[in-house]
Amino acid sequence: MWGIIATWRMAQEGISKASELLKDGGDAGDAIEMAIREVEDFPFYKSVGYGGLPNEEMEVELDAAYMDGDTFDLGAVAAIKDYANPISIARRLSKEKVNSVLVAEGAEKFAHKEGFERKNMLTDRAKIHYRNRVKEVQEQEITPYAGHDTVGMVCLDEKSKMTAATSTSGLFMKRKGRVGDSPIAGSGFYVDSKVGGASATGLGEDLMKGCISYEIVRLMKEGMHPQEACEKAVLELDKELKERRGKAGDLSLIAMNCKGEWGVATNIEGFSFAVATANEEPTVYLTKMVDGKCVHEVASQEWLDNYMKTRTAPLVEK
Ligand code: ASP
Repeated sequence: MWGIIATWRMAQEGISKASELLKDGGDAGDAIEMAIREVEDFPFYKSVGYGGLPNEEMEVELDAAYMDGDTFDLGAVAAIKDYANPISIARRLSKEKVNSVLVAEGAEKFAHKEGFERKNMLTDRAKIHYRNRVKEVQEQEITPYAGHDTVGMVCLDEKSKMTAATSTSGLFMKRKGRVGDSPIAGSGFYVDSKVGGASATGLGEDLMKGCISYEIVRLMKEGMHPQEACEKAVLELDKELKERRGKAGDLSLIAMNCKGEWGVATNIEGFSFAVATANEEPTVYLTKMVDGKCVHEVASQEWLDNYMKTRTAPLVEK
């Protein structure tokens, strides 16, 4: 059995490529890195890699992580600037016995020494988004934190090795140096090849409060199906946050177990995800919670066409 599941529609091309590799007996580490790089390199995705939206100082600071579920090798970078593929740097770091999580200049120095490609990650399009948002914030007092989409994936290969990985530019207009859940083990991702893995997208500050990816893996270890584990973890954290703090941020989770069964849960409308397994062609789903259960629907061709159209539409400066 093999499989790969990812947050958001934007992962579709990446998981399609990865599934070709997995079909031929490819490695879960290579497949997940390839799939994430595909998202990082696509300039029209505003929340991952090249074209990602900047922090409040108009700098693109990226977070990424990689975990191997066989060895528990784990590497992450946070607030790294000017490198094309943070996921590859995180994977390279996962091989280090110590110093495997690096931030900002430390991460950049490591990447430079290891020969990773330097790239100015701030696109003209992202600058327009930034300037427009600065104006909107002045005019309507909307929160700078609206709008985010991290790519998070879990992968299983034919040899039963599992991996998890994330990559993100974090929240648009975040404070310089802000780190979300995505490079934090247990919150943005977690994987154990004996059990399964999970990954998150949403408001990092809230996702971290529940160590939610670890919680889902823990529930699967107790015998829950990934779907049940995701629903339970999301509903519980959502409830706890509302009780204690009056509101809960966006929480969307994907998971896959070591049998290739998968699950997804969210507390928002319109969460999309992509999945491919030995039994299922790469498919994009939309999901929503109805009475405590997540109902997944295959995205229509119209929805998919519209998605690309809006992502690539010319951007007007306000
Ligand atoms: N979880 C990410 C963060 O807080 C944002 C996202 O999922 O889009 O940095």
